[in-house]
Amino acid sequence: MTGRVEGKVAFVTGAAQGLGQAMAVMFARHGAKVALTDINGLGLEAAVAGINAELPGAAIGFEHDVTDEARWQEVLDDTVTRFGGLHILVNNAGVASTRSVEDETYENWRKVHAIDLDSVFFGCKYAIPHMRSSGGGSIINISSISGIIAGHNLAAYNSAKAAVRHFTKSVALHCARRRYNIRCNSIHPVFVATPILDGLTGSMSREEAHEKLGRQVPLGRIGEPDDIAYGALYLASDESKFMTGAELKIDGGISAM
Ligand code: NAD
Repeated sequence: MTGRVEGKVAFVTGAAQGLGQAMAVMFARHGAKVALTDINGLGLEAAVAGINAELPGAAIGFEHDVTDEARWQEVLDDTVTRFGGLHILVNNAGVASTRSVEDETYENWRKVHAIDLDSVFFGCKYAIPHMRSSGGGSIINISSISGIIAGHNLAAYNSAKAAVRHFTKSVALHCARRRYNIRCNSIHPVFVATPILDGLTGSMSREEAHEKLGRQVPLGRIGEPDDIAYGALYLASDESKFMTGAELKIDGGISAM
C-alpha cells in the first residue's frame, strides 16, 4: 500500500542519518513532502538529495540545532512557506549518554536534556500553531524503551527520555481539550542498527556489538530502522486518528519481560 500520508507535509529532526532519515524516506515514499533538519549539514544534504533523486521535489533540508529556540521558529516558518502547511512533526534528534549518576557530569546532563528533551518542548510549542492552520496533524516524539525501563549507566538518557514520554501525554491532552485535531504520541524503540549504537561498542566490531545487544531482545536481534519507520508511518497517517497520548513500544518484546 502506498500513499498513506499523501498530501501531507512532514518535518523530521535529526534526519541526516539513522531513524530520522529512515522515517523521512518512508514518509516521502508514501506521498508526503518532507522537511529534513539536522546539525550535520553534509549528511543532511546527502539525505535530501537521496530522496529527491527518487521522488523529485519531495524533500527540503535545513541546518538546524534543535536546542536553538529561535531557529525552530525560522525552519518551521520556512517549511510552511515552501510546502504550504505542516501536518506531521517528528521530534527525533537525540544523543545518548552511557554514564551512571556518579559518573555523569552536570554539563553533560544539561546537554543531554537540552537535545533530547528541551527540543521536544520547542518542537511541539512552535509546530502546534502551524498544524492548527493546516487543519490538524500528528506529533511523534521519539523517546526510547529507556524512557520506560531504566539502566544503571543511563542516568541522563533515562531521565530525558522518560520526561519525553510524559510530556507527550500532556501535549496530547492539551490539544484534545482544545479540539485542535492534533494528536501527540511517543515511540519507544529498543536497540536499532544506527550510528548511535557505535558509542556502545567499545573494542567490539559493529557486527559483534549488534549480535551481543540482540541477545538481550526476546526476538533475538536488534531492530532495523524501517521497523521504527513503519510505526511512525502509522502514527503520522490518518489510520491512527483515534490514538493520542499513547506510547508505541517497538522493542522486540523486551518490555514484556
Ligand atoms: P543517530 O545518532 O544515528 O542520529 C541522530 C541524529 O540526530 C544525527 O543525524 C545527529 O546529527 C542529529 N543530532 C544530534 N544532535 C542534534 C542537535 N542538537 N540538533 C539537530 N540534530 C542533532 O541516532 P538514531 O538511532 O537515529 O536516533 C534517533 C532517535 O532515536 C534519538 O532520539 C534516539 O535517542 C532514539 N533512539 C534510538 C535507538 C537506537 O538504538 N538507535 C533506540 C531508542 C531510541
